[in-house]
Amino acid sequence: MKRLPIFLALLTSFAFAQTAPKVTYIWCGSLYDGKHDAAQKNVTVRIVGDKIDSVAPNTKSAEEKGAEVIDLSHEVCLPGLIDTHTHVLLQGDITSEDYDVQLLKWSIPYRTILGTVSARRALDYGFTTIRDLETEGAGYADVDIKKAINNGAIPGPRMQVAGRAMDVTGAYPIVGYSWELKLPKGVQEVDGAEGGRKAVREQVSNGVDWIKVYSDRSYYVRPDGILDDVPTFTLDELKAIVDETHRERHKIASHAAALNGVHNSVEAGVDSIEHGMYISDADLQTMVAHGTYYVPTLFVGEYVAEGRAATGAKVWVDMIKIHEDTFRRALKAGVKIAFGTDVGGFDWKIDPAKEFAIMVKYGMTPAQALRSATVTASELLGMQDKIGSLEAGKFADIVAVPADPMADIQQLEHVNFVMKGGIVYVKP
Ligand SMILES: [Zn+2]
Repeated sequence: MKRLPIFLALLTSFAFAQTAPKVTYIWCGSLYDGKHDAAQKNVTVRIVGDKIDSVAPNTKSAEEKGAEVIDLSHEVCLPGLIDTHTHVLLQGDITSEDYDVQLLKWSIPYRTILGTVSARRALDYGFTTIRDLETEGAGYADVDIKKAINNGAIPGPRMQVAGRAMDVTGAYPIVGYSWELKLPKGVQEVDGAEGGRKAVREQVSNGVDWIKVYSDRSYYVRPDGILDDVPTFTLDELKAIVDETHRERHKIASHAAALNGVHNSVEAGVDSIEHGMYISDADLQTMVAHGTYYVPTLFVGEYVAEGRAATGAKVWVDMIKIHEDTFRRALKAGVKIAFGTDVGGFDWKIDPAKEFAIMVKYGMTPAQALRSATVTASELLGMQDKIGSLEAGKFADIVAVPADPMADIQQLEHVNFVMKGGIVYVKP
């Protein structure tokens, strides 16, 4: 295993020595590089192979022979967007029935085929990198989709994947059927500190980048307005899972929507809090101190609320207001907020970039919202040296929109040019 890649690298570098890497120039009418809040006007991006070689004032006359030129002089160029909370193996689950059908009636091969379409959709929307946070009963099919993309077999974004995720026995769907039936589960059921360590080892050996835990369930609004929950793992269990994950040099995301789930996750030292509909001020302070990321997934809450309220779960409607308040407090406290949508929880035919407008509605500037999906998200993924901004040496992951998103954030729902690693997938 150690020697083969070096041998292969020598072979491929020999093979490519004959042909110089492709050179592409993009003329951008304006460009946000991800590092500065202000746009630069009339910029030329020179791309060699899959990397950015230079970002410079327009040099239209200086392009060398044989280079491809892409004219985006009427467009606004941006770093490829990053969605840090997706589910390519899930095709919308507003109600538990939607969810159960996918686990009970659809085979994992069928779900994986649909998953490849979801991955392509992510790319078409302008998300050149995603963190896919568990397959909901489809095993490690995300590892395979990632592999197929990386091998060039299918188009899709760069992916970090979480495989099966973990919850304690009996806490996660599928639930509610006759006790006589043996039904599939949306997670790996894990109990006890040692069980947690074993599950981390198993999942890492099967190729996951991230560990995902579900830290709470059964939400209810207390009379004092605080969103309470039933915590799943004990603090000792969570600490063991976090410790084992970090010991193996991986990261851990925690689905934690309410009081106890968030508190236990923050105390245990997870790397990101997913959803965080209610987070106490004290926990926000700990998140700032620990550098814990907050991935709020605002849009999905508004989207599923009506459907879930119609089936009797009114708490989802109350949670929208609580979520907005938490987001505003987190922003004020200086918590690192990374863009994530939970797409898959809602239909992939809906552009997840709708999240941006809600972030702005809840108090972010457009520049802050864009940063959450570029530089900040790249840092959460540990990929800040490779993606998240447009500068020499980074992957040529570039998208464009028709007009200035700082004036109208919804422009990000109209991505009409997508390049990933120097290859164009969408053109105006
Ligand atoms: Zn999710």
